[in-house]
Amino acid sequence: MKATSILLGLMASAACGAGFSEAASAKTLNTVASFTVLADVVKQVGGDHVNVKSLVGPNGDPHEFEPSPDDAKALKEADVTFISGEGLEGWFEKLVSASGYSGKPIVVSTGITTRTMEDDGKTVTDPHVWNSPVNVKIWVANIAKALEAADPADAADFKANAAKYSKELDDLNAYAKSVIETVPKDRRKVLTSHDALGYFGREYGVTFLSPLGVSTETEASAADVAKLIDQIKAEKVKLYFFENSNDPRLVEQVSKATGAQPGGELYVEALSKEDGPAPTYAKMFRYNVDQLSKAFAGT
Ligand SMILES: [Zn+2]
Repeated sequence: MKATSILLGLMASAACGAGFSEAASAKTLNTVASFTVLADVVKQVGGDHVNVKSLVGPNGDPHEFEPSPDDAKALKEADVTFISGEGLEGWFEKLVSASGYSGKPIVVSTGITTRTMEDDGKTVTDPHVWNSPVNVKIWVANIAKALEAADPADAADFKANAAKYSKELDDLNAYAKSVIETVPKDRRKVLTSHDALGYFGREYGVTFLSPLGVSTETEASAADVAKLIDQIKAEKVKLYFFENSNDPRLVEQVSKATGAQPGGELYVEALSKEDGPAPTYAKMFRYNVDQLSKAFAGT
């Protein structure tokens, strides 16, 4: 904020009798985030200075999404908009043109060392960066920078929140390392619905197999499924998990053909509702680590 507008802000506050403390906290930013995991991290960094609207809701699939007129309105009125990027939100561009939003979204995954995968003979970037808290620290830095630019009067708070939350992410990383390390390496193999946990696997040495690729938009062919069943048998994968935001039928079919046992549910790309087990990113990550470790202990 420029000096003149701070002065005007002070005068306005004084005029309506609100005093000086309110003027120090310049404004509440209206922000929009593409999906719940990102919305929570924006809230952690923004604190009381931001309202955050998540476009995709709790338990929703961030790859495939039908925005409503309300979503378009929220986007158009947003002070700052955040997307993860790397091909996750294929629907976002269309929403931008439909809404008349003229801003430029902040792509929070910028700067992350991404991993690629072979998907139907093509090399694709894995967009599920948040399943490693090490990557989320880069989200936090990008979010803090964008909020500071939009509301410089509250920059010190954004910096402090970002530092505190980054420390929490370090703790989550250390927790996952300590828990997963106790599982013998050859038993760290899991079947899930789609390839959403590659960064978790890279960080903690767990192999995840799935009938779908990195996006739920693709469909698995009968040949893909047959090949996966052979692979699961050959690698002796004994566990499978459902995903809260995905159709369980395909993973059930594969598990039946291989004898893999259910481990429960993982929250890979959508938070739960407030009263569920994963209403924040930190709770979601910890829940997944605990679900995996409990299931590994039983195999
Ligand atoms: Zn996904």
